[in-house]
Amino acid sequence: MRRNPMVLITLFLILAGLACSADNDDAAMVTDDVANTDDVGGTAELSAAFAEFDEDETTIYLDGNNVVIETTGFPNHETVYWGPGNDLYRDEPDVALTPSIIPNFDGSATLVVSANPQLASTSTATNLGAIGIAVSGAAIFNDQEGNGPLSQAAASLDWTGGHIGPSVYHYHLEPTAWSEDDGALIGILADGFFIYGRKDYDGNYPTDLDASGGHFGPTPHNPDGEYHYHIQNELYLNQYYVIFPGDYQGTPNSIN
Ligand SMILES: [Zn+2]
Ligand SMILES: [Zn+2]
Repeated sequence: MRRNPMVLITLFLILAGLACSADNDDAAMVTDDVANTDDVGGTAELSAAFAEFDEDETTIYLDGNNVVIETTGFPNHETVYWGPGNDLYRDEPDVALTPSIIPNFDGSATLVVSANPQLASTSTATNLGAIGIAVSGAAIFNDQEGNGPLSQAAASLDWTGGHIGPSVYHYHLEPTAWSEDDGALIGILADGFFIYGRKDYDGNYPTDLDASGGHFGPTPHNPDGEYHYHIQNELYLNQYYVIFPGDYQGTPNSIN
């Protein structure tokens, strides 16, 4: 079969160009660690918080004034739900397993949010399914399980408040794999606001949270302050710290 060398060279140049732009996106995620500025009409910047997301599980880049967050949906830590034989399998004999394991699902998802999300005039209830993407790569769900209370599914939650429902692996509770009664970044919700652990930047529990666990204030990634959520320091069913039982205070986009 004859091949035209010019076609091959052109193809090579196109592929090389694509590889370069992908590299640039990665570089932007790592080095662009300046928090959003007050530039009027300036170009958007990636929040420094995005550097906390697992680089193997997520790809994050700017697209105009939006941030695109792509994830494999797989958690970067141990859980029984990886299934025996997996490197990240953790034996958890007390967990009432749901009938599947992580590798059986395509958990990949994309969320596009504004690089400078704004509060909405009215709040929006969350739905079943992913309401956010955690820094581990896996999905954040709300306080419901199949439209019933979370207590119905509690026995199947693993050591870090996650499990597989009828679909992908996801967290309902404070993910102790990387945050326990502290101010660690948990992830980003579908309205573009970040959610942190129970404590604030200064090591104290915030006292001015709104109905969704949000407030305006400094974060480890933006000392100038921005609106962000916290896991509320209030027990649910006298037992659990649910990640996000409230409504979005911004405008949610779909995660799919
Ligand atoms: Zn669930
Ligand atoms: Zn705070």
